[in-house]
Amino acid sequence: MVTKEQILQWLQTFAAQIEQNKDYLTQLDAAIGDADHGINMERGFKKAIAQLSTVADKDIGSILKTVSMTLISSVGGASGPLYGTLFLRASTTVAGKEELTAENMLEMLKAGLDGVLGRGKATQGDKTMIDVLSPAVMAFQQAVSDGKSTLEAMQQSVAAAEQGVKDTTPMIAKKGRASYLGERSVGHQDPGATSSYLMLKSLLIVLENSRAPVH
Ligand code: ADP
Ligand code: MG
Repeated sequence: MVTKEQILQWLQTFAAQIEQNKDYLTQLDAAIGDADHGINMERGFKKAIAQLSTVADKDIGSILKTVSMTLISSVGGASGPLYGTLFLRASTTVAGKEELTAENMLEMLKAGLDGVLGRGKATQGDKTMIDVLSPAVMAFQQAVSDGKSTLEAMQQSVAAAEQGVKDTTPMIAKKGRASYLGERSVGHQDPGATSSYLMLKSLLIVLENSRAPVH
C-alpha cells in the first residue's frame, strides 16, 4: 500500500528534485526550446508544495487535485497545462482514498498518461514527456500483471523511464517548441521527458526509503 503520507513525501521529493535540477532542465530547454523548463517547473512546484499544508488532512485525490490547480494557474509554457492535466486526471482515479494498492497506482499512472496524451496529442517518438511516461506506465502495468509489489513495479517503471529519457536524444521533435527546429533537435535530450523521469524517480525514492528494513 502507498499511503497518503508517502504521496505527500513524493510531491515534496519531486519539488526538491526539480529545484536541484532547475539549471539542468533549463539548459536542456536552452538547446531545443526557450530555456525556461526548469524555471517553469520550479515555480509551479514551489507553489504547489506551499499549498500542501492546507490539504494534508484531505484524501489523496484532493491533494493531487490541488497540485493540478496550482500548476495550471501558475506555470506558463506547455508544461504547466500538461503536468496540470496529468495530476488532474490522476486525482480523479484516487478520489476519496487514503492509501493505494498497486492496482490503484496503475490506474492513477495510466490516467495521468492519458491526460497528457489527450491534451498534448503527442505519440511515442515525438520527443516529449510521452517518451518517458508511456514506457514507464507500460512497465508498471507489466509488473503488476506479473504479481509484483508496488515497489518492484516502480523499480521497473523507473528503469523504463530512464531508458525513455535516453531514447529522446536521437529523436526529431514533432511537438512543442522543439519541433520548430526539425532535424536540428536531434542530439539533444528532451527537457520535459527529463522532468517526467524525475517525477517517477522521486516516487521510487520515497518507496525505497520507507521500505521496512530487512533483517
Ligand atoms: P514551453 O515549450 O512552452 O517553453 P516548457 O519548456 O516548460 O514549455 O516544456 C517543454 C516540454 O514540454 C518539452 O520538452 C516536452 O517534453 C513537453 N511538451 C511540449 N509539447 C508537448 C506535447 N504536445 N505533448 C507532450 N509533451 C509536450
Ligand atoms: Mg520552454
